[in-house]
Amino acid sequence: MASLQSLRGMADLLPGQIGLWQHVEARAREHFRRSGITEIRTPLLEVTELFARGIGEATDVVGKEMYTFLDRGERSCTLRPEGTASVVRAAIQHGLLSQGAQRLWYGGPMFRYERPQAGRLRQFHQIGVELLGFADACSDVEAIAIAWDLLDELGLGGLALELNSLGSSEDRVRYREQLVTWLEQRRDQLDADSQARIHTNPLRVLDAKHPDTQALLAEAPSLASALSDASQARFAAVQQALTALGIPFVLNPRLVRGLDYYGHTAFEITSSQLGAQATVCGGGRYDGLVQQLGGPATPAIGWALGMERLVLLLSQAERPAAALDLYVVSRGEAAATAALALARLCRQAGLAVERDATGSAFAKQFKRADRSGARWAAVIGEQEAADGLVGLQDLRASEPAGDRRLGPVELVEALQAARGRP
Ligand code: ATP
Ligand code: MG
Repeated sequence: MASLQSLRGMADLLPGQIGLWQHVEARAREHFRRSGITEIRTPLLEVTELFARGIGEATDVVGKEMYTFLDRGERSCTLRPEGTASVVRAAIQHGLLSQGAQRLWYGGPMFRYERPQAGRLRQFHQIGVELLGFADACSDVEAIAIAWDLLDELGLGGLALELNSLGSSEDRVRYREQLVTWLEQRRDQLDADSQARIHTNPLRVLDAKHPDTQALLAEAPSLASALSDASQARFAAVQQALTALGIPFVLNPRLVRGLDYYGHTAFEITSSQLGAQATVCGGGRYDGLVQQLGGPATPAIGWALGMERLVLLLSQAERPAAALDLYVVSRGEAAATAALALARLCRQAGLAVERDATGSAFAKQFKRADRSGARWAAVIGEQEAADGLVGLQDLRASEPAGDRRLGPVELVEALQAARGRP
């Protein structure tokens, strides 16, 4: 019988990869704790209307990437393609916004029906931050700094922060008119995708991948020149605060982001080491979204980073050390029971322990102990089992120092004491 495979674009995370993921998740959790940001968890499945209304019907995500189906009650449901709309829905539904500004983070799988390639999957994972109820330019910079510092702390080099301002909704209406007129006059020279977007989502044409379209767009009216004085002053304040914090950035007047809800600050953090899928983190201000989803007018800014792309970058760099303290080897029936009891005692004391259950020759078991990455090995043979003792070996010692023979409780104490030292 043919064996079953996972769906295209949906990856398993295997034991050899999980260490890096857990390392990133733990760092992020700690980083958010220090930043006064609390976790929120929302369902993977939402009513389709949430994304249609929140993200925008004319976006790629809603137009062609969503996993949408009717449930058994004939209700149209969608697997979440991103986190912001759900977080905002939850904040409104539970009245969080009446309790003051909210600093929230989320993490987990997202679903988009895209063409899978390196760094682009159909089930992928994001970690994101949403600051709801924050209006000033410094909040934009705080949100950006939280992302920038997390990536920096993880040891990622070669990153660039790209920045743009999409202006107010009035600015965009004015600019949209100019741009549509300009695009219509050059319709024949545009690629098919861009032609289709002239009226549905003209700003996205700026982001077209087609080289001929890109070349043509060099002459297009610029969004920057359509910004009102107030929008320009706001954008200048964002840039000043970034400079004050020593966070380098480059202005990218073509950066428009894929979701309709963004205005004013939009940014991406990219890496030169990622090839075509260069963006690790993207975000921006979305002052209209809360109201658009039925909540009180609430200014907000947020971002999301792609875990797969982040982990790709990290796996090219350092690897976190294995976390096992002790590997227990034993031979003989009485010894196996003693080994089981020892492993349990150590685990109850907070140590990470693996027990060799093969009963094979000691030499083979020791090979596996070495490969396990554990710092120590405990050895229980027939004699030790009869004496109620355990042999302890330091697997990192440069010269084998021979066993120390200890009782189980003594062994736990010795390992706990040693754990504090390198
Ligand atoms: P892209 O232009 O790469 O499609 P996007 O603008 O659609 O990205 P966002 O919706 O802003 O991306 O999501 C934020 C981040 O999530 C991206 O910068 C990326 O790191 C990650 N991401 C988005 N889509 C995918 C995917 N299909 N597979 C893996 N990661 C993804
Ligand atoms: Mg996309």
